[in-house]
Amino acid sequence: MGSRRVWQVFTVSSTATEMAKEPPPDFEKTHSKMPEQLRVGGFTPFTAIDFPGALSAVVFCQGCPWRCRYCHNGSLLPATSDDLYQWPQLLHHLQQRQGLLDAIVFSGGEPTAQPALENAINQVRALGFKTGLHTAGIYPRRLAKLIPKLHWVGLDIKALPQNYPAITNVRHSGTPAWESARLLAESGIPLQVRLTRHPSLTTEKEIAQIRTELQKLGINELVVQKCNTENCLDQALHSNVIHRQ
Ligand code: SF4
Repeated sequence: MGSRRVWQVFTVSSTATEMAKEPPPDFEKTHSKMPEQLRVGGFTPFTAIDFPGALSAVVFCQGCPWRCRYCHNGSLLPATSDDLYQWPQLLHHLQQRQGLLDAIVFSGGEPTAQPALENAINQVRALGFKTGLHTAGIYPRRLAKLIPKLHWVGLDIKALPQNYPAITNVRHSGTPAWESARLLAESGIPLQVRLTRHPSLTTEKEIAQIRTELQKLGINELVVQKCNTENCLDQALHSNVIHRQ
């Protein structure tokens, strides 16, 4: 995701569930809502695969309070890294792309971690672009405010709620993610729900159970993606694959 990524690798204990941290802090107090303060750690100027049916650019927002074992965007996880693109300059670049691009997608990291996202979305809408969001559903209340401003959402569902901490290293992380799934389903916004599967973390049986739970929300499709372990946070996932039953 973007040429500016710097890969980080560190080891996470196999007892990740017990070591899971408290729920994520609210970034509201430490981040500005001013769009020029949007912290951007990467940018893809042109892609045909990040917003279905649209040519888009992708803005990779900095910061995520989770530490998923298979995350391969380690450089985007700190909320305050200095490796930044200037949003006003990016916006100016997007202005030059009017008529050439259909949509701007905000990805991450976790884009909804930044209160500045809402006004940045407003700005790209004002330029005439459709807006898309890649999210893990970490902040459902903030997501609810953003939904009316978005044209498409890609939501990562990682596990059944109770199994989230073993992947994210954050206690109770399944609750907001599934609340976000419910909100998005209710809203009727075009939605793709995806699950990244590593055989050591997710069984076929759990995937079937997840499909059932999603169907209860009215979500009938789950896209299962193979985990790319090459640059993931937990290097044990690269070298030591245990196929769970
Ligand atoms: S939620 Fe996404 S960006 Fe955050 S740690 Fe997990 S995979 Fe990485």
